[in-house]
Amino acid sequence: MPRNLPRLPAIRSAADPEALAEAVRLLRAGALVAFPTETVYGLGGDATDDRVVAAIFAAKGRPRFNPLIAHVPDVAAADRIAVLDARSRVLARRFWPGPLTLVLPRRPAGGVSLLATAGLDTVAVRVPDHPVALALLAAVDRPVAAPSANRSGRVSPTTAAHVAEGLGDRVALVLDGGPCRIGVESTVLDLTGPEPALLRPGGLARGTIEAALGGPLATAAPDPARPAAPGQLASHYAPVRPVRLGARTVAADEALLAFGPRPPEGAAATLNLSPSGDLAEAAANLFAHLRRLDGAAVRAIAVMEIPEYGLGEAINDRLRRAAAPRDDDAPMSQVD
Ligand code: AMP
Ligand code: MG
Repeated sequence: MPRNLPRLPAIRSAADPEALAEAVRLLRAGALVAFPTETVYGLGGDATDDRVVAAIFAAKGRPRFNPLIAHVPDVAAADRIAVLDARSRVLARRFWPGPLTLVLPRRPAGGVSLLATAGLDTVAVRVPDHPVALALLAAVDRPVAAPSANRSGRVSPTTAAHVAEGLGDRVALVLDGGPCRIGVESTVLDLTGPEPALLRPGGLARGTIEAALGGPLATAAPDPARPAAPGQLASHYAPVRPVRLGARTVAADEALLAFGPRPPEGAAATLNLSPSGDLAEAAANLFAHLRRLDGAAVRAIAVMEIPEYGLGEAINDRLRRAAAPRDDDAPMSQVD
């Protein structure tokens, strides 16, 4: 038996009612449970308990206490922890459950841990669109902080096996609900200023939100007065191998992450995000394909150009982070 390998956590099918009940018990008792959402797997813990939130940061190996998203089962539960104005309600009614996180004024009496909000007077809230997540959140009956269930600096998990590989027994239980439907994290929208601002592109396309709001969305410039959002830091998603973007040709010692019907030939290994050029399919495949190519014995991963519209904005955002230069000596503050 090789030593120093993390022991594997229990993985149980989310279709098993006993497993779901066990997950509820664990979360209510302050343990960490990974669960499926429509975006990526979340590393869940009681968002009202500072010690549990600290345990989430520790399990991720997250070097800094960046604010986490509080997950709730419905708008009524969001109302208890955050202040929703008319504009927020329109968006919540239209897009929840779904891959949209709203940053809202925090209700101090709502009980969300200040560690989870990084001491801000705002809180990020989301209702995930996944039957397992919704059943879990309703039964736990308190907000659940759930960043992506990966070690800091690694790509987000879209299957239960990814979670187990990355976190080992740092998580008490992994609920297996199959592969995630959307595959990239939620879109984060700041509604605390006069104009809604896009903090992180994600699973809900900018254009869809703009259509609902009836106007263009500002893209938030990094604000030095606020803790940097991990979604805004350069190197966030990091495969082990160097990543080369905009590839039109590929070398024999490279792996190719392809998109569309005509990938260049000659790569050591090729995986296609979507042979038909479908951006939703590409988003769903992104992290799993990156992981598989990262495991290949190649010098680098070459990535074909992805169009910048629709979900392409979120895909390109994650790919740019994967390709951002990494300084191995730098403090681990660049990754999430
Ligand atoms: P994660 O939970 O790791 O998917 O990341 C949550 C995202 O929401 C990050 O980009 C956070 O910085 C952002 N976020 C969470 N809470 C806040 C907040 N109160 N203000 C601004 N951004 C936030
Ligand atoms: Mg993450």
